[in-house]
Amino acid sequence: MAITLYDSLTRQPRELKASHPDGVVRFYNCGPTVYAPAHIGNFRTFVVNDVLRRLLELEFGPGKVKHVRNLTDVDDKTIRRAREEGRPLADVTKQWTAKFHADCTALNCLPPHVEPTATGYIKEQVNMIEVLMEKGNAYRAPDGSVYFKVSSFENYGRLSRVKERELQLGSALAGKVTAADADEKEDVSDFALWKSHKPDDGDNFWESPWGRGRPGWHIECSAMSKAILGDTIDLHTGGEDLEFPHHENEIAQSECCNGVTFARHWFHSKHLLVDGKKMSKSLGNLYTLDDLVAKGFSPMALRYALLTAHPRKQLNFTLDSLHAAESALASLRAHRASLASSPAAHDAFAPVITALQDDLNTPGALGALFTIINRKTGEPDLASFDRALFVLGLDLTVAAARKADVPAEITALAEKRWAAKQAKDFAAADALRKELAAAGWSMLDSKTDYKLEPLKK
Ligand code: AMP
Ligand code: ZN
Repeated sequence: MAITLYDSLTRQPRELKASHPDGVVRFYNCGPTVYAPAHIGNFRTFVVNDVLRRLLELEFGPGKVKHVRNLTDVDDKTIRRAREEGRPLADVTKQWTAKFHADCTALNCLPPHVEPTATGYIKEQVNMIEVLMEKGNAYRAPDGSVYFKVSSFENYGRLSRVKERELQLGSALAGKVTAADADEKEDVSDFALWKSHKPDDGDNFWESPWGRGRPGWHIECSAMSKAILGDTIDLHTGGEDLEFPHHENEIAQSECCNGVTFARHWFHSKHLLVDGKKMSKSLGNLYTLDDLVAKGFSPMALRYALLTAHPRKQLNFTLDSLHAAESALASLRAHRASLASSPAAHDAFAPVITALQDDLNTPGALGALFTIINRKTGEPDLASFDRALFVLGLDLTVAAARKADVPAEITALAEKRWAAKQAKDFAAADALRKELAAAGWSMLDSKTDYKLEPLKK
């Protein structure tokens, strides 16, 4: 067995290895900024990383994976939210951390082994900045902020190939910096390691050798990764938007400070779109887990839907994909029930794991799962089935939310009818509606969803 994963730095699939003598895979996944509920795009990234973590544990063995995922609990967004609500920063970030944890639990994501916060590692960040100052990779601007000098790191841009698109980048960056920022920096591409205190920061500041202020965003991951996992880690991951500038800057800071390779493997998952568009509040297509639960979908259906596209391809999310996910889960439940008391025979579901080992091919894994089920060879294989579902993180014991008080066989009929209607097989849909009515249930359809109601006696 071996896991091959596309590496964003070398731009090729490479075998994932534990490079330390203790055989423990050091895995750092950039976590959320805790100022609002995470949206389903964020959860695509976290669910994909959860499957990766589960797969690593299967491959390298229990206790042989150290998974770190941070919480960004101080930055412009969190401070702005606290200011707008007239609350202490820690109040706001605690609230949204708790919500994030609750959503992760509902989506059956395993908690990381260590979950550090940016505010819990201020000293480590200051120490790193001091080393960068001593080595000449950073400078203090007149306003007291400290910047990383991008020209001091020869390899800058290797991950995101930034130099190859220098022209666009120069203009894009120039457009982004505010006048005040631009005045203080020696070069437009330099980035902040330490931000001097501004009135808008209120009492959110720490003392440092450069005066009061707070760390820049990028330095937190470099410092926490070093403190918890060491100077060189085996795997660093995040969504595609983090490749530049966040991960590029992490590499620059860490490699200049530590003098060794920062991460041996980089994995970036692509974004989720909704109905073909980037999610945004103004388009009204931004969903949180709660939004979907309020529509009657189960968190497990969302998890399933998030796994239906290859992590390295964009995922176009639709509400219909959740209906399909609910019926897929219903079939899996039915299949498991048919295996229930059988002993393990052989590893019939091994192809599910094999698909994941090949560049985390989640749609391939789901496809293999149903191919094996539909083959109906009659070979009972509960242990193998459960292992496959465990690595995908699909917990079949979690009931579909909407159907809490609807019998499972009614839900199954309703899902079948919905699927038939979507496929415009109206004859089948009609027959199923009659079947439902005979069982005492009516199905009320809207354009994108349905409701089940018991018929009055
Ligand atoms: P943030 O809280 O903004 O730092 O994002 C947390 C994680 O979600 C990061 O790994 C992002 O790359 C990822 N992310 C943000 N938007 C999306 C999206 N639309 N689809 C998938 N992942 C996303
Ligand atoms: Zn990070």
